[in-house]
Amino acid sequence: MTARSDVHSKGRLPFVVEKNSAPVALAERTAVLADPGFGRVFTDHMAIVRYTEGKGWHDARITARKPLSLDPASAVLHYAQEIFEGLKAYRLADGSMAMFRPDANARRFRHSAERLAMPQLPEEVFIESIEQLVKVDRDWFPTVEGGSLYIRPFMFANEVFLGVKPSSEYLYLVIISPVGGYFKSGAPAVSIWVSQEYTRAAPGGTGAAKCGGNYAASLVAQAEASKHGCDQVVFLDAAEHKWVEELGGMNVFFVFEDGSLQTPPLSGTILPGITRESLMALARSEGLTVREQPYSFDQWKADAASGKLTEAFACGTAAVVTPIGRVASPEGEFRMGAGGPGQTTMRIKQKLVDIQRGVAPDPHGWVHRLG
Ligand SMILES: *Cc1c(COP(=O)(O)O)cnc(C)c1O
Repeated sequence: MTARSDVHSKGRLPFVVEKNSAPVALAERTAVLADPGFGRVFTDHMAIVRYTEGKGWHDARITARKPLSLDPASAVLHYAQEIFEGLKAYRLADGSMAMFRPDANARRFRHSAERLAMPQLPEEVFIESIEQLVKVDRDWFPTVEGGSLYIRPFMFANEVFLGVKPSSEYLYLVIISPVGGYFKSGAPAVSIWVSQEYTRAAPGGTGAAKCGGNYAASLVAQAEASKHGCDQVVFLDAAEHKWVEELGGMNVFFVFEDGSLQTPPLSGTILPGITRESLMALARSEGLTVREQPYSFDQWKADAASGKLTEAFACGTAAVVTPIGRVASPEGEFRMGAGGPGQTTMRIKQKLVDIQRGVAPDPHGWVHRLG
């Protein structure tokens, strides 16, 4: 770690808590929590912390969620110096609240900040901001089966200056969206479009950082996938256009006839997913072989045709584990197995969900209770 990151990555801040004086009415809240969808409904509060060069992180508060006022020359609006995170809080079987591996998100947020030339938020402040906010908005857990609070921490450059340089001012915020399932259709398996024209991340680029810019660059490919009747896009590597990397916002796994799993290695162009890492640990603890090895699209096609590849799935916090049924590209399409959710996929998904929900023991210490 550099001296600079040491300066900014340790410490705590006192949070001022200002309750929203006009929260959403109970009847309305109750109605939306029965069917919140994904990312359209938000709680009554937000966390906000400011950063100014020289002064560091300051003015930490939990306050009423409201629109921000930004100067039109605010740096983020021009040069996209922005990063974010995504994690969930659950109501456990015993009624307590818990988050899944927030320490891993805090660490990744620092790494993303480093890549985008932003100051690093101390991990303690990241976790404290979320704990305080979830506690204030504890009445917002969805009542729908499988519901959770989707927590969105983010940080952006807020200096009023059109010169191209790292900003001297930043805002860090956390908002919360009560969510049900991620995919509207609730489909048992999704279809995937293999992008031939567009790539997500190149060596030396920002593929391993969780930044808005990566998503902006993926949208045209996602639109192309939709146009071809597919739910999601999968990207190949930028250099050879041969190796499967990941989806726009999810990592990908392959399951073979012999029971082994494979996922592309973290080579700098793939986002290091916490779900990905957790699933690898769970599969290995079950005695399964998990390879972090490149897998080419041609091999994927051949293995699906021969039956050597039996299942594929995508994974990430928002959708947890999503089976991939159909794969389409300009050259045609193919399916894996019966085109529906595979047995191994569903088994390790259940293992993860049971730990997240406090139904199964937590041998890795992933569940962070909020009391
Ligand atoms: C967030 C994200 C993932 C999944 O990461 P999790 O930590 O499992 O939620 C995968 N790929 C991309 C591009 C992402 O932004």
